[in-house]
Amino acid sequence: MIFACREAPSNHLVVGRIEGISQELLIERSVLKHLSRYRQLTPWSTEAGGQLFGTIDTDKVCVAEAAGPYAGDDRSRYRYRSNPVAAQCAIDQRFQRGLLYLGEWHSHAENQPNASGLDDDAMRRLIANSRLNSNTLLMLIVGRTLGVDGLSAWSIANARAYQWQLQALKK
Ligand SMILES: [Zn+2]
Repeated sequence: MIFACREAPSNHLVVGRIEGISQELLIERSVLKHLSRYRQLTPWSTEAGGQLFGTIDTDKVCVAEAAGPYAGDDRSRYRYRSNPVAAQCAIDQRFQRGLLYLGEWHSHAENQPNASGLDDDAMRRLIANSRLNSNTLLMLIVGRTLGVDGLSAWSIANARAYQWQLQALKK
């Protein structure tokens, strides 16, 4: 299940593209399922979030697993920050199984989520502070609408945010 991205395309629920870039973003069904559990459907539900893991090659970025939220996270209606110890632990565990840390996910209390300026800043800070070789990070935001319409995906690279155009794949 972990390496499903290397298997048949039917395992992917969502594919993303950025104009002018040949690389595709593939998001596993199981990842979407995990994220949809944390949609902020009630007026009192707080933001949730965590880390994204998968594989990267020249053709595609494949999101195969999502971790979090964790005990000890900093969570409010409009803010999420992972417990740094728990997040690092999740990253180390996935790395031992051959999965790369790709970026972060969190929920928004809106139907169709937009990246806020705050999110941009947070992602730039993450890139600046990370020990990764990569200077690109993926950010998934989960809104209240179920499915691809309630999801937005961004890659932060060279201090710029690029939005992926997402599309649901047929079953
Ligand atoms: Zn946000």
